[in-house]
Amino acid sequence: MYIFAAHFQRNIVLVMQEIRNIAIIAHVDHGKTTLVDRMIYQARLVRDQEKLGELILDNNDLERERGITILAKNVSVIYKGVKINIIDTPGHSDFGGEVERVLNMADGVLLLVDAFEGCMPQTRFVLQKAIEMGKKPIVVINKVDKLNCRPDEVQEEVFDLMFSLNATEDQLDFKTVYGSAKQGWMSLDWRKPSNDITALLDTILEEIPAPAHNPGTPQMLISSLEYSPYVGRIAVGRVTRGELKAGMNISLCKRYDIIQKQKIKELMVFDGLGKSKVDAVQCGDICAVVGLEGFEIGDTVADFENRSRSRLFPWMSLR
Ligand code: GDP
Repeated sequence: MYIFAAHFQRNIVLVMQEIRNIAIIAHVDHGKTTLVDRMIYQARLVRDQEKLGELILDNNDLERERGITILAKNVSVIYKGVKINIIDTPGHSDFGGEVERVLNMADGVLLLVDAFEGCMPQTRFVLQKAIEMGKKPIVVINKVDKLNCRPDEVQEEVFDLMFSLNATEDQLDFKTVYGSAKQGWMSLDWRKPSNDITALLDTILEEIPAPAHNPGTPQMLISSLEYSPYVGRIAVGRVTRGELKAGMNISLCKRYDIIQKQKIKELMVFDGLGKSKVDAVQCGDICAVVGLEGFEIGDTVADFENRSRSRLFPWMSLR
């Protein structure tokens, strides 16, 4: 599924990737790493099938890819031609501001809950933020293979919790996917186990809105940072308007209306568990920018000439 966008003024045709940005909210040990590992495996499996028309897999590669997940902050998979960016969220409330910034990169959230333990108090804070910010939730009730699990009760508890958090009607109309990340299956009915986790991936494509495409001068709010021993600090954020290009001159808009003219050295997008270098990043995608000096989380990367600060956060206009 691709959208072809013609950029007539520059006489080039860009192939735009369809995208879903989803943040994952889970209490520690509820199975986030196992699930993300499965998503990568499943997406790769489907992609290979699509490419080859039949199931010819390099099992070694797949196995190599599996079981190595040390959950990165951002992971990306391509499923049925759609790129799904999976964004990790801090599991608790110690990082208030960070939670909001990270959730801002997503259009929906995946609330992962243990079918026995149910939703834990620590996850409530992050869920509350997501609900307030209008994100569309999908609930995953994991570990239904466990003895004494209580998926139906947990589902009702999650509904009650969302209701008490003033979720909108649309948010309360969330889809629930049940399964066992460990056994590698997800299903809309936990009494009917499936063979894979396509039910979850399909639900993400159906339920989570695609990012808005805002043409114009580029804008990206720096939402998190990564560090590489080779290139130093890397700014990570979602392109909310226009397009970023490698080698582009930009304005880095900082607090107190300080503007620094800088240059993007390299651009990367998330690719599986790693990142890959690209020439340009389209609006809606999450990208990693190399080469910015002295940036802080909350700064905006904007057009060199017509800079305009991201107004994603009300208090940012004061900065
Ligand atoms: P995380 O802390 O949320 O990333 O959780 P992990 O993915 O590391 O899983 C924590 C533990 O739960 C590990 O021992 C997993 O093997 C186990 N686990 C994950 N998913 C399932 C599941 O669906 N069923 C069962 N029985 N165990 C699971």
